[in-house]
Amino acid sequence: MTKYTAKRLPRQTGPAGWNTILPEQPVLPVLEQDLTVDITVIGGGFAGLSAARRLHQLDPSLKIAVVEAGRYADSSAGRNSGFMIDLPHDLSSDNYAGDGLEADRAAIAQNRRAIGFANEVAAESQMPDEIFDPCGKYNAAATRAGDKHNRDYVEHLKRLGEPCAFLDKTQIHEITGSPHYTSGVFCPGTVMLQPAGYIRGLSQLLAGQIDVFENTPATGFERQGNGWQVMTPKGKIATGTVVLANNGHLESFGFYQRQLMHICLYASITERLTDQQIKTLGGQPRWGVTPADPMGTSVRRISGSYGDRILIRTCASFHPTIETSPMRVRNAGWVHDRKFAERFPHLNGVRMEHRWAGMLCLSRNGSAAFGELDQGVFSACCQNGLGTARGTLQGMGIAELIVQGKSDIADHFLAQPEMPKLPPEPFAALGANTYLMWKEWRSGKE
Ligand SMILES: Cc1cc2nc3c(=O)[nH]c(=O)nc-3n(C[C@H](O)[C@H](O)[C@H](O)COP(=O)(O)OP(=O)(O)OC[C@H]3O[C@@H](n4cnc5c(N)ncnc54)[C@H](O)[C@@H]3O)c2cc1C
Repeated sequence: MTKYTAKRLPRQTGPAGWNTILPEQPVLPVLEQDLTVDITVIGGGFAGLSAARRLHQLDPSLKIAVVEAGRYADSSAGRNSGFMIDLPHDLSSDNYAGDGLEADRAAIAQNRRAIGFANEVAAESQMPDEIFDPCGKYNAAATRAGDKHNRDYVEHLKRLGEPCAFLDKTQIHEITGSPHYTSGVFCPGTVMLQPAGYIRGLSQLLAGQIDVFENTPATGFERQGNGWQVMTPKGKIATGTVVLANNGHLESFGFYQRQLMHICLYASITERLTDQQIKTLGGQPRWGVTPADPMGTSVRRISGSYGDRILIRTCASFHPTIETSPMRVRNAGWVHDRKFAERFPHLNGVRMEHRWAGMLCLSRNGSAAFGELDQGVFSACCQNGLGTARGTLQGMGIAELIVQGKSDIADHFLAQPEMPKLPPEPFAALGANTYLMWKEWRSGKE
């Protein structure tokens, strides 16, 4: 009998800062009895929740269950920096540009479909703009090399026919209040999410329509008749179809062995700024900056009912075990403090209130882990870093593939080349961590 057992379950390091700064989280049920459904979605991040919503949209008569190992918005879905980006964002390139104009145009069109889908979620859930803000982002530089990246990026965007604006040092200073940056590119199509607020909102929206469980890890699933039986600690689900939307933990069930790269990113968020600190800081109350060099530091200034705060996101490490350690979070925290001081020397004395780590999943060639892996077992995983948009898109695509048998989103992912294998351990981890350290060092002040 075919059986897939989870070799490991997700373990988070540090609090999901975005979730922690929101008011107490509404509780969703734990699965505590046996259940029969048509489709079970494993994983309640961007991909899983989007898959569940799209399945329900396509066929409201389907019985659907989502099982999430932890609490909603406690995983990477609530740990990311919240840039839902429409433009090409190739983290492995030097300046985010993709493979060429046609490929980039196709990627932009798809990312915008994902953003459109999220926009409908935000409207239906009446999310305020402190949770879902279609305000654009800035690509900011702090060195001559970064300025050149920014100018090249503007040229590339112009060739694509994309609106953007180059900002000089004074203009980017006026927006961020930081004297650190030497230039910026405004990219108007990015939505800035409070990611935990968005994921909470989407899970609550679905909870009124389908079965949505939290603190309910799928520990395995096995063939049962024409369908599958999904095991969780307190109940089993008999289901026709399984959708794996658990990103890097797809590998924990034995799929895509040695093909997925598990990268950990680190972030810190300040305490609430005082009125005096807000005045000293200057600039606009909300903005998001991605670095001109993809391995540099992302920064966000947020303002809302959760306070006025600044988020710093930098440092990366590779972990085949899909988890990091508190010591690494602490070490990354020192780097965050240094990056904060470089950018905001006038905010001396502001403390970081929360620090955390989160996993993301990449493949060596940027392909997704998408499609039917076994009869009635589908995957929508490996978002290659841009999971808010690509995870949403994969969720939509997998739902369309299951219900309609075909869709152009699914066709795009199914046509991607196979992922190459990684070198065996310990060489993969040694090689990847050395490469990441070199790229971080090279990104310098960016
Ligand atoms: C610090 C940081 C900053 C980032 N910044 C950005 C950004 O600005 N923009 C962007 O687009 N992306 C960003 N990312 C990446 C983004 O967070 C991920 O790509 C995205 O969360 C992937 O979505 P997903 O739904 O595929 O996976 P996840 O969000 O990881 O969701 C998968 C879910 O599956 C659950 N799960 C796993 N195993 C099981 C199981 N056995 N049973 C039940 N549930 C299970 C997990 O608990 C998790 O909730 C960042 C990531 C980090 C860590």
